[in-house]
Amino acid sequence: MKEVRVRFAPSPTGPLHIGGVRTALYNYLFAKKNGGKMILRIEDTDQTRFVPGAEEYIVKSLDWCGIKFDESDIVGGEYGPYRQSDRKPLYKQYSDQLIANGFAYYAFDTAEELDKYRAEAESQKKTFIYNAESRKTLRNSLTIAAEEVEKMIAEGVPYTVRFKMPENYEVRMHDIIRGDIKVNTNTLDDKVLFKSDGMPTYHLANIVDDHLMKISHVIRGEEWLPSMPLHVLLYQAFGWEAPEFAHLPLLLKPDGNGKLSKRDGDRLGFPVFPLRWVDPKSGEVSSGYRESGYYSEAFINMLALLGWNPGTEQEIFSMEELIEAFSFEHCNKSGARFNVDKTKWFNHEYLLKKSSEEVGEEYLQWLETEKGIKADRDYVVKVAGLVKDRVNFVKELWDQSFFFFEAPTTYDEVTVKKRWKENSPELMRMAKELINSIDDFSAENIEKVLNEWITSNELGMGPVMNGLRLMLVGAGKGPHIHEILELLGKEEALKRIDKGLEVLA
Ligand code: GLU
Repeated sequence: MKEVRVRFAPSPTGPLHIGGVRTALYNYLFAKKNGGKMILRIEDTDQTRFVPGAEEYIVKSLDWCGIKFDESDIVGGEYGPYRQSDRKPLYKQYSDQLIANGFAYYAFDTAEELDKYRAEAESQKKTFIYNAESRKTLRNSLTIAAEEVEKMIAEGVPYTVRFKMPENYEVRMHDIIRGDIKVNTNTLDDKVLFKSDGMPTYHLANIVDDHLMKISHVIRGEEWLPSMPLHVLLYQAFGWEAPEFAHLPLLLKPDGNGKLSKRDGDRLGFPVFPLRWVDPKSGEVSSGYRESGYYSEAFINMLALLGWNPGTEQEIFSMEELIEAFSFEHCNKSGARFNVDKTKWFNHEYLLKKSSEEVGEEYLQWLETEKGIKADRDYVVKVAGLVKDRVNFVKELWDQSFFFFEAPTTYDEVTVKKRWKENSPELMRMAKELINSIDDFSAENIEKVLNEWITSNELGMGPVMNGLRLMLVGAGKGPHIHEILELLGKEEALKRIDKGLEVLA
């Protein structure tokens, strides 16, 4: 295989959707697997769709994901500039070359004229397309005399350069994921390649840059498959060797009905963007995976498996393992359904893999910023170790452990109704005395002493434990009682029992 050089080529027209992140990821995995280079090229030739902040957002998002570039506007490289607006002077010669060789032509039809043709066609239930048939009757350099064309251009009459799609020609192509594809050019239109404002369109700039940047493999979303025949024909027209193509399957909505769009996310209850995005015009906020508490490793792991499978049962992959395992052979042709629960499950697995120290540190931070609680580090680490297997996110730890940080002031009504019996006050008074008498306050010893006491006095495990839980937690949840007792410490535990008795008895 020749040197692998792949590119991720986003247009900064808004935040990067998770489908875009997956495209970047597969490019990255393929490049790294094959000892190749990964390039970031910003495709911003359509200035009408420019969104401030979008490029920075894309860069930050990919950085958060751990997708690194060997060449980009930021890290530099031999084939720059890597932003198409900075390459503007370069494209016209290629447009000229296509015209000179008969592969393209000038079109002078105004936007109003084209609108009129569209409306006329529509009224006859047809669609207007600029193609081999219609171009014969429209205002272009194929129908207007050469001197007149020259004069119009010299006078500054606005024009576009269109690709002269060959008539009734079968374009034969190969896609790494989809295999051989044939398309007849009669189904295609004469796409605009260049505009008189000096800007190329996506199609021209994309091909010219892929060629100049020596891109070996074009890996992109399925939505670009319809552009592939034009791109292949452009390579032929220039006499350049085309790169290999791989069109990735779409990401589908959870119900499988249609493509997961930018608008779906918060509407369906999960983010579709890696980072939070605030629309610069409307101020509308879209949630991000990072801000929702996802680990980037879990997010990447989940995305990698949407459209690719390792061919084994393994589900948890580090980036290194993904690079090692990745190949197009195991990429699917059909769309991959997004699954919210599975996404949370991945985060749970990554949280579980972390040590209590790591999770504790994160929780410590969270407690301070979200609750204004400055807790002891070692204490928080112990709390995290005790409950981390019950949550998917650090922010969910609170619901499982709030009672380690604040004593109950109220007692869950439903639990009281169900668990607080006539003999409960008496049981709790006795339990309090027993607890007071325990010197070795380790969970293990507490458990032993409590169990012996309960069994020898035939008190029943349920009534004692449920009562204690209500006193210590204020509700019917939490880890084992002896674990709670150890962490709270004797003094605090006794205080809580006193308080509980005062309120409930
Ligand atoms: N600029 C295109 C996009 O926004 C790139 C498509 C391609 O990879 O060719 O997705």
